[in-house]
Amino acid sequence: MVDKSRELKRILVTGGAGFIGGNFIYYLLGSEQVQIANLDLLTYAGHMETIAPIANDLRHRFYQGDIANAETVHTLIQQFRPHAIVNFAAESHVDRSIAGPAGFIHTNINGTYTLLDRALAYWRELPPDARSEFRFLHVSTDEVYGSLGDTGSFTENSPYQPHSPYAASKAASDHLVQAWRHTYGLPTLITHSSNNYGPFQYPEKLIPLTILNAVAGEPLSIYGTGRNVRDWLYVADHCRALWAVLERGRVGETYNIGGNSQRTNLQVVDMICQILDDEIPTSPHRPHLRLKKFVEDRPGHDWRYAIDTTKIKRELGWMPIENFERALLQTTCWYLDNLRWCTAVTASAHHGNAGPDGTPLLRSVTS
Ligand code: NAD
Repeated sequence: MVDKSRELKRILVTGGAGFIGGNFIYYLLGSEQVQIANLDLLTYAGHMETIAPIANDLRHRFYQGDIANAETVHTLIQQFRPHAIVNFAAESHVDRSIAGPAGFIHTNINGTYTLLDRALAYWRELPPDARSEFRFLHVSTDEVYGSLGDTGSFTENSPYQPHSPYAASKAASDHLVQAWRHTYGLPTLITHSSNNYGPFQYPEKLIPLTILNAVAGEPLSIYGTGRNVRDWLYVADHCRALWAVLERGRVGETYNIGGNSQRTNLQVVDMICQILDDEIPTSPHRPHLRLKKFVEDRPGHDWRYAIDTTKIKRELGWMPIENFERALLQTTCWYLDNLRWCTAVTASAHHGNAGPDGTPLLRSVTS
């Protein structure tokens, strides 16, 4: 229920036609008193179909544009006058960063710089109260910390050790954000989350790709031994965490966000196959497990990621509430119910690049 007596909080969301940004906008419109400007370039990963249900919602306005274009960013910030900027916009796929890193440097590094630069110019001119309330939240990844062995987990004090061009570009953007905080005083926050899953994820990442390939009876390619571990975070849990950080996080701090759900890639693929066997009893591809195919490992494939969520739990009272088995079932059913969305987003995408093993990216399995 919207309280009309309060001014709506104006939030500039970048990358809001993508997976997590889109979910974040739905989360905010459903539970908070906000006005959203959504700036997205609509690359292969961003789609109007993802935000079609809110096309006529007066609290959300979409702008197609590049976060690395200073004029675009400047004009939008000056017109919209945000209370906060949440930066999701990025090139986000590790395999694509190996095949062609240039776009990652452009968006993740130059784009973040441009946002910081224009945000700072705007922030400096705000009256004192508005200046102290303004926030710049940069959404980053646990991949900046590199890889873990069989034990341990990443804390906010873990050293930066990015391995892939994607992780290196996100690490660079984190350092820029920290520099804008320390040098100019811009009120920034950074989050590092583990691998997300849920509705609206472009079907090139492990979970949606496995679901769609299995439904189509295509091979389910698994890198190496399939024993690499990820700490799976349901996107709705992530969105709640981001809002908690934006509202109550200490300025200048970093918060790690994880799902407390470590699974090997093989376990994830096996679970999806089982779910599909149950959900589509008439499928000619049952048992879906027989579609599994081990392929040459990704170069520099990080072995394990795991997040220590002690800080965000202690300071902000946030914990993941989704159970992996239940949320994976829910996610799989969402894809089965939304094949039209899958067809629309993959039909309009640019599929020019090949994965590191030469296969088209839509056929590779990654996380
Ligand atoms: P995504 O690839 O689904 O969406 C990225 C969005 O950014 C797309 O809508 C795309 O059109 C837009 N975009 C790309 N370049 C742009 C540019 N130059 N200007 C404006 N918009 C541009 O990504 P995602 O999975 O939703 O990830 C969102 C953020 O969260 C990223 O910063 C990513 O690094 C981070 N993250 C993702 C995960 C994950 O598991 N997906 C985990 C940790 C952190």
